[in-house]
Amino acid sequence: MSMMKSTMNNSSRSIWVFGDYRNYFQNRVTLQLLARARELAMQIEASVCAVVFGNQVEEYIHEYIAHGAQTVYVIDHPRLKTYSTATYAALMAHLATEHEPDILLIGATDFGREFAPRVAKRLKTGLTADCIGLDINEKGLLVQTAPSFGGNLLARIITPEKRPQMATVRPGTFPELPHDHQALGRVITLPFPENIPDDRVRLVHSERTPPREQRLEDARIVICGGRGMGSRAKFRKLFEMARLMGAEVGATRPVVYSQWAEHDCLVGQAGKHVRPQVLFSFGVSGAIQHTAAIHDAELIVAVNKNPNASMMKIADVAIVADASQFCSALIRELKKRIRE
Ligand SMILES: Cc1cc2nc3c(=O)[nH]c(=O)nc-3n(C[C@H](O)[C@H](O)[C@H](O)COP(=O)(O)OP(=O)(O)OC[C@H]3O[C@@H](n4cnc5c(N)ncnc54)[C@H](O)[C@@H]3O)c2cc1C
Repeated sequence: MSMMKSTMNNSSRSIWVFGDYRNYFQNRVTLQLLARARELAMQIEASVCAVVFGNQVEEYIHEYIAHGAQTVYVIDHPRLKTYSTATYAALMAHLATEHEPDILLIGATDFGREFAPRVAKRLKTGLTADCIGLDINEKGLLVQTAPSFGGNLLARIITPEKRPQMATVRPGTFPELPHDHQALGRVITLPFPENIPDDRVRLVHSERTPPREQRLEDARIVICGGRGMGSRAKFRKLFEMARLMGAEVGATRPVVYSQWAEHDCLVGQAGKHVRPQVLFSFGVSGAIQHTAAIHDAELIVAVNKNPNASMMKIADVAIVADASQFCSALIRELKKRIRE
């Protein structure tokens, strides 16, 4: 144990935030959750703790303290070198059973979405997935706000009895606190428990995907492609168009499931929310699970062979055409204009 600061809250109640530090500079959700946890903690007189698993994670411990963690629980072990859902879930359940946090918050990243339900199951508690709001009610319970019914309703959910109250939270929901390099916190380093079974999954190979020019969520121009693009090869034309326009590519779920595009491109209820000035939509039907995440676009241009597709009805400009052919024509035109 090391480092104490006078602002430490001595209450036995605690709010835990899982430290998801992969791609630290892009993935800020842990810092955002720490900031919100500090606000919630003031209302219920709790302390804010980050939980960090990994190998050689010293730098993240300091980052979390600088961003609002009053205590950091750490398990640092070679077995934790790569993120593993099963091992991390077993560890988190083990720690939470021992220390009984009131609230446990996890970023709704790809890993968080896989990891959180497994922790909740082990702890026999509830979990609200993909929250876009967290508050405390008059009884001191965590009110977890999450979109439901395809984004048509916002559900406010509480966990009155079971503990911890668990939620995954969409990245970008809360602002992070400024980095306070003078902040101090308590660091509790714990041994790797003996009763954690060996992982049944072995990482054979991993490869970093090339970084995007900009985050899909921040892009001024987004080009979304759907199943109507026809094939993987045709879909890849959208990337060429994006390069010419300075845009980012988004995709619908069937496209991601068919591996025409990375999961990172998924736009919709289960993916990213975009807010571009212009959104191009190629061969997308306009299902509610997709359109729930594009309604903040300022201008929507849709290309679909079916004029009655829902997407064509919500578009500002609706073009009845073959998506792939239209895409090729637009690329030719863009190249011509760039040359001129
Ligand atoms: C719980 C849940 C969560 C979901 N989350 C998401 C999510 O986050 N994101 C998401 O996208 N989906 C999500 N879905 C799936 C969603 O309901 C739709 O199935 C999906 O969005 C449809 O994708 P699509 O428009 O690409 O395909 P389709 O529905 O198959 O539509 C293809 C469109 O392309 C048009 N088309 C066909 N050929 C051509 C052509 N040659 N030229 C031009 N147009 C053509 C068709 O007219 C049609 O409109 C979710 C579903 C569930 C149940």
